[in-house]
Amino acid sequence: SDVLLEIRNLTKHYPIRKKMFSRQPAGAVRAVDGVSLSIKRGETIGIVGESGCGKSTTGRAVLRLVEPTAGEIRFEGTDIRALNPEQLRKFRTNMQMVFQDPYASLDPRWTVRQILEEPLRTHETIGQKELEDRIDSLMETVGLSPYHASRFPHEFSGGQRQRVGIARALALNPRFIVCDEPVSALDVSIQSQVLNLMQDLQQQLGLTYMFISHDLSVVRFISDRVGVMYLGKLVELAPTAEMFAEPLHPYTKALMSAVPQPDPDALRDRIVLKGDVPSPANPPSGCAFHTRCPVATERCRAELPELKTYGNRQVACHLYA
Ligand code: SF4
Ligand code: MG
Repeated sequence: SDVLLEIRNLTKHYPIRKKMFSRQPAGAVRAVDGVSLSIKRGETIGIVGESGCGKSTTGRAVLRLVEPTAGEIRFEGTDIRALNPEQLRKFRTNMQMVFQDPYASLDPRWTVRQILEEPLRTHETIGQKELEDRIDSLMETVGLSPYHASRFPHEFSGGQRQRVGIARALALNPRFIVCDEPVSALDVSIQSQVLNLMQDLQQQLGLTYMFISHDLSVVRFISDRVGVMYLGKLVELAPTAEMFAEPLHPYTKALMSAVPQPDPDALRDRIVLKGDVPSPANPPSGCAFHTRCPVATERCRAELPELKTYGNRQVACHLYA
C-alpha cells in the first residue's frame, strides 16, 4: 500500500493536578485530541496552526517521544504503541526528528563528528574506517565539507547548524522525519536553501516528511498536503494547491487571509478573529472554534463537527454537513 503511517485518534492529555482543598475536579490539558491521519510514502504533509494548537505534541507523539494517552500509530503495519522500550529503540532508526533550534538540540561540547557518530555507535556495530566514511558522506549529503567535522556547533552559521541537525537525523537511514519548525529560527534568505536541501534529500533518499510550521508560506512551498490544527484537533486536510486556492474551514480562511498574496487578483479580505485561542484545558463546547468563528450558529455551540471526507479533502465544520 502507499500508506506509510496510519494515525488513528491520536490523543495526548496532560493531567492537571488537583489543587489541595479545591472542589474543582482535576482536569487535563488536551494538547492533542483525537487526530486521525494517513501519511503516504514519499509525501510531505504540512501541519499548521497557531502556537499551542498541538502541532509539536502531535509530531512528538507520533514518534513516541511523548507517550500518547490514546490512539493508534501504525508504521507499515507495525503498531508503534505496542513496542516495548528495546523494540522502540530499534524501531526509532526508521523515524527521526529535526528540531527548530539546531543550537539547542546539538551538544555544544561535542564536535560535529562526535554528534554524528553518536547515533551510529549506539545503533550499529560499525568499524572505525566505515564510521569515518559514513560521517564524510553524511556531511557531503547535507552540503557541508567533511573537513569541518572536527568543528564545534558554535563555529557554524545557523543554516549550517541546521544542516548538521539534518545530517544527524539522516545518520541511521530513516524513512520518516518529523520536522518541527526546522527553518523558523533562520534568516529568510537561508530558509529557502535549507528547504531546497530538504526537498532534494526527500527525492534522493525517498523520505516522507511531517513538516510542522506556523509559517503558511513555508508550508505551501514544501508540502503536498496540509493539515490545519486548532485546539488539538485537525480541522481541515487537503492537497496544498486546493487548500490555498479555496480554504473551506472558517479557521483556515482566517489564517490564510493573513498571508500576503503574491497575486493581487487573489487578494482576500483580511478576516480578523475576535479573542484569543481558548485554553486547551477548558476547550469550548461543540465546535471548539465557535467562540471565534464569524459564522457560528447555535448548533456549533452544542455539537462537535466530525472531520468528514469530501473528495480528496477533509473538513470538520457543520457548514459542510
Ligand atoms: Fe464555525 Fe460552526 Fe464550522 Fe465550527 S462548525 S467552524 S463554529 S461554522
Ligand atoms: Mg511548536
